[in-house]
Amino acid sequence: MFLLCSEIITPFKLNLKEILKIAKKKLQGVSQTPFLDAEILVGHILKLSRTELVVGDDSEVTEKQKKDILNLIGRRLKNEPIAYLTNQKSFYGLDFYVNENVLIPRPETDILVEEVVRFCMEAGASGVGVLPSGSLVTSKKVPLEKGEVFCKDTGGLKPQALPFNSLNSNQKTPLRKAQDNTFKCLIIDVGTGSGCIPISLAMNLKNLNFMGIDLSEKALEVAKKNIEAFGLKDKIELRKGDLLEGLDLSLQGNEEIIITANLPYVEDSAELEIGVKDYEPHLALFSGEDGLNHYRKLLPQAEKMKPIAIFLEIDPRQVEILQEISQGLFPEYEVEVVKDLTGKERVFVLLK
Ligand code: GLN
Repeated sequence: MFLLCSEIITPFKLNLKEILKIAKKKLQGVSQTPFLDAEILVGHILKLSRTELVVGDDSEVTEKQKKDILNLIGRRLKNEPIAYLTNQKSFYGLDFYVNENVLIPRPETDILVEEVVRFCMEAGASGVGVLPSGSLVTSKKVPLEKGEVFCKDTGGLKPQALPFNSLNSNQKTPLRKAQDNTFKCLIIDVGTGSGCIPISLAMNLKNLNFMGIDLSEKALEVAKKNIEAFGLKDKIELRKGDLLEGLDLSLQGNEEIIITANLPYVEDSAELEIGVKDYEPHLALFSGEDGLNHYRKLLPQAEKMKPIAIFLEIDPRQVEILQEISQGLFPEYEVEVVKDLTGKERVFVLLK
């Protein structure tokens, strides 16, 4: 009979190595990375790094720690994502607080952040100067014919098999940085969730202003907690709102605006992994039949603000429809599509 971990609390004392062994064994059924999961969960409760765990001694685990570890394993056995169990997720080299009210930051969103950093640096913002993962080419202005999309990874209009970001870290493209560092703008992140996008941007770009908007009060609480933890209260303003509807920027001055968004873009009928489907907020994932309900609503609102650039995280199958929508709303803008590390078109960019 299958026993939940919480039901097998042994009366015997356990040391670190023993509890780690039990955790690894238990997690083998549910996780593709049971050892890693076990080390993260045990380390989380014992407040030890993975290195400290691996070289760990035979020190005894207290009853309370044992109970807490077994409780987390029990939850993991029901497919709850590790990030919710530890309330922590790394994104863009930074550690964020997360809970079930926000989407867990994904590695593919790194690309969006990286593109915005690059854009701002090239426009003359001052920043840290080195992009974490390195892209292949700097932005190029290519006049587009109707129906054409500039594909960033190949530096041209005809995509090749070469994956984006295939260079190693030593081959990063140097940034073409404007001399005066006078670039100023307001970056508005719509559907900000944990706040990982504006926070990562604010940690890498100096002197810019940021705003994070979300419809969910509970998500805004998470974003607030992260903004405070990074000491960015003065740089990032949070607002509750339905996308950009009724957004009042009268106190913001006449700054240029950049819009970023990782809105829900999953088709309603999509089959998601069980851990995602059962635990992550559906409000942050699903967006109608073709996954584009939110972007269809956002783009006309965005158009009224005349932003200098828009960066949207998307599903690769949405490129064509988004391009059609954009041609009507933003005829003067250039379109760029940037691939993620797996070679999928992931960021849709509109540049004025
Ligand atoms: N990339 C996410 C997923 O497939 C979706 C994120 C989103 O809808 N914004 O799980």
